[in-house]
This record gives sequence, structure tokens and C-alpha cells, in this order.
Amino acid sequence: MSHIETDLIHSGKSFNKTHAIVPPIYQTATYYAADNAEEYMAAATEARHPHFYHRHGNPVSSQTAELIAKLEGTEAALLTATGMAAISTAVLSVVKAGDHVVAQQSHYSAARVLLKELLPQFGVEVSYADQCDNASFEKAIKDNTTLIYLETPSNPNLSITDLSFVGALAKEKEITTICDNTFASPINQRPGDFGIDIIVHSATKYLGGHSDLTAGVICGTEEAVNKAWKKLLTLGGALAPFDAWLLLRGLRTLAMRVRQINENALQLAQWFERHPLIKRVAYCGLPSHPQHELAKQQMKGFTGMLCVEVDGEDEQQQFQCAQKVLNDLDIFANAASLGGVESLVVHPASMWGLHHSNEQKLKAGINDGMLRISVGVEHIDDLIADFEQALAKI
Ligand SMILES: *Cc1c(COP(=O)(O)O)cnc(C)c1O
Repeated sequence: MSHIETDLIHSGKSFNKTHAIVPPIYQTATYYAADNAEEYMAAATEARHPHFYHRHGNPVSSQTAELIAKLEGTEAALLTATGMAAISTAVLSVVKAGDHVVAQQSHYSAARVLLKELLPQFGVEVSYADQCDNASFEKAIKDNTTLIYLETPSNPNLSITDLSFVGALAKEKEITTICDNTFASPINQRPGDFGIDIIVHSATKYLGGHSDLTAGVICGTEEAVNKAWKKLLTLGGALAPFDAWLLLRGLRTLAMRVRQINENALQLAQWFERHPLIKRVAYCGLPSHPQHELAKQQMKGFTGMLCVEVDGEDEQQQFQCAQKVLNDLDIFANAASLGGVESLVVHPASMWGLHHSNEQKLKAGINDGMLRISVGVEHIDDLIADFEQALAKI
């Protein structure tokens, strides 16, 4: 059996029918100038055929998808235009009117909108479980529950869901599970190993890793992925040829990037813990994280995502101090997204206003002084020095 580093370079290459080491970009909407009618019919009717029409598939998309399926340890994978296309397509391939879904209190904001607004619009009811409390998943399940939707570590608060507990519970009750594995990446966590059925990613983040593309991926059994592919044909979120090619290029260095990022984030989190102006550090690699033991059981590394709370006398002052730190940072850019080679930071309290009321923000664990940090691959001494000078200016 090959190792992840080798898989990242070689998996999926049977889809490259040329002699080129790097596959060409097939910048075409349609492929099949078929030699005969039978061949055309076969290409038109086969699921995920890589040479028929762009929405059906693309050779580089197939190569990249096979590589990601290998990383997640699933039978198959399907690429989509964005992470949200992966999430919405996967969810809509499982639920129908009259079904009930169990989700978490804390999810990526656009996924929350899907659960809160879109699904109820089509007669799908959603209940919310506290991801840190296994019993609350059990309590939330109803007779018509067909899906449990998970995200761990979750955005932005880095709470952990017990994957083997939920995986076993769902298997027993014949409920499908989907897990958003974006924050962990398959280098650090493979939900399929704990009984989760479908794994989704925003490949815009760690998988792509260079903040130069948007993409998503749905991983699961051949059957589950083909079901999602049929929905994708209708919903239309196929990944463009150039972005599939860029994603493949980014993936080559996934293991090295993620390991360096894990190491940088741990050192930065430890430094924050000693800083007098930082009230709280949320990083699942620190023993102070309330779910550190669980994180150790299901993760091989703890990602580059961490949250810190800047101290202040009251909420208003915390809000202002957090914004001041953002303004004074030089290396960390104040930009949305995460998982790239460059370090980014956002202030969730100023960002989540679009979709969340104040009460919802608090429920999702978002405080006024909180900064969410995505650690990149820069030198750790420079990253620490940047926060040191910014915090000194408060
Ligand atoms: C960014 C993100 C998404 C959405 O991905 P897009 O590629 O922006 O559509 C979904 N889930 C998580 C956890 C994310 O961080």
C-alpha cells in the first residue's frame, strides 16, 4: 500500500491519456466526436464520463477526484464549482420533502442558511444538536430523520464532533451522515474511518491551498457519489477545467503544507496562551481545549485554524481592540477564506452580521473580541512577531 505523499503525486493518473507528466487542461465544453452512434450512447449514459460534456465530467476533474477519494479512503469523489455547491448538492441528493435533518448549532455560515432557509422552503425540517454533547444527537433524531449533517472542527469556534459516536448511532438507525471536513483536511482527519458516509470539502481551502481557486468535493461510495452527480447535472455546479487543473497542482504539496501549518499553529497557539492581553485561545491541539482528548482520538494533526479572544473591559472595548489588532497586523491579511499558504485573520463579530442576529452569534460561540486565524506556511518567528507588535499597540 502506498503512502499519502506518494498518492498525492500519482493517484488518478490513469485519466491522463497523454504522455505528459502534467495533464493538459481540456478547455472544452463538449468532447465526444464519437466514431459511431453506439459509442456516443455509451458516453452519454455513463455516470461521470470524463469525455462527454463538461457538466458530466472532465478528464482532469476525474483525475483530481480519484486522488481526493484516495486521500479520504472512499470509493469515489466528485468535484464541484465551490464548497457550497458540494454541500448543497450532497444534501439535496439525500433529503426529500417530509424528511427531517439533524444538524449542529455551529456550521459554516452559508451552510447554516441552507439548513435554516432553503431546506424548510421545500418541506424538510431541521433540528439542531449541540455537537459537544453526544446525547443531544440522540435526542434530536425523529422517525423521519434521513440525514445527520456534521462539521468538525466547526467554523468558527473549533468545536469537535465525536465522529465515531455519531457514525455508529446513524448506522444503527439507518440515517445517512455527511461531514464537512474542510477545517481538518484529509491529512489530519478522515471521517470515513469513523463510519461517516459522505465527506464534503470546500477545496477552496486546504486542498487547493493557494487561495487562487474555488472548488468543492463530495466523497463517498460509488452509489452515493453517482446520486450526487445526478443532482449536480440538474443543479449545474460543475468545476471549470482550469480550476480542476489548479486544484490538482495545489494538492501535490498538501501533506507538506498541512504539516507545516499544523506545527506553526500549535506554536502560535502556545504563544497566545502566555500573552496577558489574550483572554482565551481555542485550538484543538492545546490541552486547554475542552475537547482535546476527543480531538486526539480522531485527528492526526490539529489544523491551522485557531481563535483568540482579545481582552477588554466590556464587549464594546473588546470589539474595538480586536479591530485595532486587525488594523495593525502586517503579515496576517484581513481577508475571508482560510487554508492557504498565507496567514489570514478575520473578526467574526464584524463578519457574521449578514446572516446572524446578536443572539445567534452568541449561540454559535462568537464573542466581540474574537479573532479567527488561518495560519499559513510563513516562518513562525515572523508570525509571532507580527502579533506581538500589533498587541503592543492596544
Ligand atoms: C469556505 C467553507 C465552505 C464553503 O466553501 P466555498 O468554496 O466558499 O463555497 C464550506 N464549509 C467550510 C467549513 C468552509 O470553510
